[in-house]
Amino acid sequence: MAGGGRFVVEPQPRYRELQADRWPVTVAPQDDELLSSWLHRLALANGLAPRHLGDVLGLGAGMWSARLDCALPDGTLDVLNQQTGVARERIAMMTLGAGPGTRLLLPLRHVAGRSAATWLQFCPDCLAGDDVPYFRRRWRWATRILCWEHGCGLRDRCPGCGDGIAAFAQRDLIAQHFCSRCGHDLRIAPRVRLLAATRRKAKVIDDLCRFEAARGFAAKSSLTERLIHLPHAISPVVPHVLTQLSAAARIGCIDRLDFGLTPLRPDDVATIAFWRDRIARAGGVAKTLEPLCELLCRGLAMPREVCRKTRRADLDAGGLDLNTLSGAYVAVRARRQRQLAMRNSASSLPASAA
Ligand SMILES: [Zn+2]
Ligand SMILES: [Zn+2]
Repeated sequence: MAGGGRFVVEPQPRYRELQADRWPVTVAPQDDELLSSWLHRLALANGLAPRHLGDVLGLGAGMWSARLDCALPDGTLDVLNQQTGVARERIAMMTLGAGPGTRLLLPLRHVAGRSAATWLQFCPDCLAGDDVPYFRRRWRWATRILCWEHGCGLRDRCPGCGDGIAAFAQRDLIAQHFCSRCGHDLRIAPRVRLLAATRRKAKVIDDLCRFEAARGFAAKSSLTERLIHLPHAISPVVPHVLTQLSAAARIGCIDRLDFGLTPLRPDDVATIAFWRDRIARAGGVAKTLEPLCELLCRGLAMPREVCRKTRRADLDAGGLDLNTLSGAYVAVRARRQRQLAMRNSASSLPASAA
């Protein structure tokens, strides 16, 4: 045993051969868990420090697990599937995927300075509420500045030593919610309080990202580009892009953004600009589609309150087909405009013609 009550574990030289069929213990991936988080838990469950699992997998030192979040080679996926029995699809789901949205991921390369980005954020309350604390995929995005569940700002540094999270470098048998550098328990980090206006704007930005992805707008939309350059758009003296800023600096950036999200609204594609303008002005997707939902309620003869609760639950769970609903919204809106135009033209006719 090393000083401070920590167990120091050396990797077995032939661990892979000794456990050729399957590793002794498998841990189940949690909801929205990041692959690296699952790997760190898997390592500990099997009596290995996270740093040494990187060796066992032949991935070397450094940010070995964080690199796998971004790109998981087929060979490593096969090994993990065979050794744990967890389905290939479920393992792949824990990675960050591909596509234009990945440009908004926090960078793996660490730049010195307290206002610079680190690669991963966390909510202390989420970690404290977990049976086995784990890190979420959603905490990897620069646009995510708060936890919707707990209403507090995300942290990207250990309050004990000021360093970013580096569980991949942990050489001892210590769970990943303890800082690998100073041992501070991240679950008891002080809450980051946010203004209600900041929470609202962050919610609308999140809605815009989800909506454009659901509608298939992402490839031709300027939203990602506009979000990346948001700090500069708000304050031209700021040279950084959003993904290079610390969690605190990004919260400050959203603080200074106007309520209508003006720098984010324009787009060269008229349909995208239409929806972005609607959602930004209304204050979110749910509020934008409210008139349609009310109409559906009346059509289904449902009590207003039941409809409101159902609508919110579906939108929050992402269970609603936004494509269908937004298409219906456009159809209803066009029909209303036609009816209005017909009524106007009828009322402008001379009395004899009517
Ligand atoms: Zn939380
Ligand atoms: Zn620390």
